[in-house]
Amino acid sequence: MKRFCYKCGALEAQQGPLIKGMCQRCFAEENRLLQAPAELEVTVCGRCGAHLLGKRWHEAGEGDAIANAIRATVLSNLKVARLSDAGMKFVHPHEVPELELWVEPKLAERVINVRVKGKVHELQVKPQFDEANIKFMLKRSTCDVCGLKSARHYEAILQVRGKLTKEKSSEVKKILQRLAMNASKRERNAFIANVEERREGFDLYVNPVSLARQMASMLKLELGAEIKESAKLIGQTRNGRRKFRFSILVRLPSERN
Ligand SMILES: [Zn+2]
Ligand SMILES: [Zn+2]
Repeated sequence: MKRFCYKCGALEAQQGPLIKGMCQRCFAEENRLLQAPAELEVTVCGRCGAHLLGKRWHEAGEGDAIANAIRATVLSNLKVARLSDAGMKFVHPHEVPELELWVEPKLAERVINVRVKGKVHELQVKPQFDEANIKFMLKRSTCDVCGLKSARHYEAILQVRGKLTKEKSSEVKKILQRLAMNASKRERNAFIANVEERREGFDLYVNPVSLARQMASMLKLELGAEIKESAKLIGQTRNGRRKFRFSILVRLPSERN
C-alpha cells in the first residue's frame, strides 16, 4: 500500500518519510520551530553592566555589556519545539542538538531579530528555518552587589595587626585584594567594601564572612598569623534570622630586622 500525506496527498515514496501522517513540507508548515515572546525587558546594571535573568543577576562577561545582556535575556526566554514519541515538548535551545541560532539586536528599532535552523522531528530530512522579531525595552537598574557596595555593606571586619613595615603592609593588602578578586569570580557578592588604615595595621570591611575567614586562614598558613574571631548580634533579617557582624583579628608575628 502506498502511504501519502493526509493534507496534500504527496506520496511518501517521492517526498521522504511521513511524520505524523504528513509529508516533509506539510509537517514543517504545521509545526513552528521557534517559540519566542512578543516583548522582552532587558535589565542591565548601570554601574557594572551585570544583567538580570529572572531574579538573579549575572556578571557582564567580556565584550559589550548591553549586547551580552540582550543575548542572555533572549536565550533564557526562547523555546524550541521538539517532537518525539513522548509528544511535543518546548525546550531550551541548548537542549536541541545541531540547532543553529542567530540573535541580532536592532537597537534603533528596539527589536531583536532571532533566527533558528534545526529539526522539530528527527525524521525530517532537512532542517527547517524559523524567525521572530522581539520588541525589547532596555531598563537600567542597580544590581544586588553594586547596591551593597554603594551602601558600604559588610559582614565582617578583618583587623590585620602587627608591627609591619610599610612595604610589608601593602604587600599583605595586595595579596588579600587578589584573593577577593578571585573570590568575586566565583561568587558575585564577594568584595572588600572598604579599607581603613590603623596605627598598627589596617581594617578590611569584607563580604561575605566566608571570604574574611578565607583571608585569615591564608595569613595564618603563609605568615604564621594568630586568629581570633568574634561575633556581635546586630539584629534580625526580614525572615527572622539573627544577623551578626563578625570581627576577625589577625595578628601577624613581628618581623625580625
Ligand atoms: Zn503534504
Ligand atoms: Zn552592578
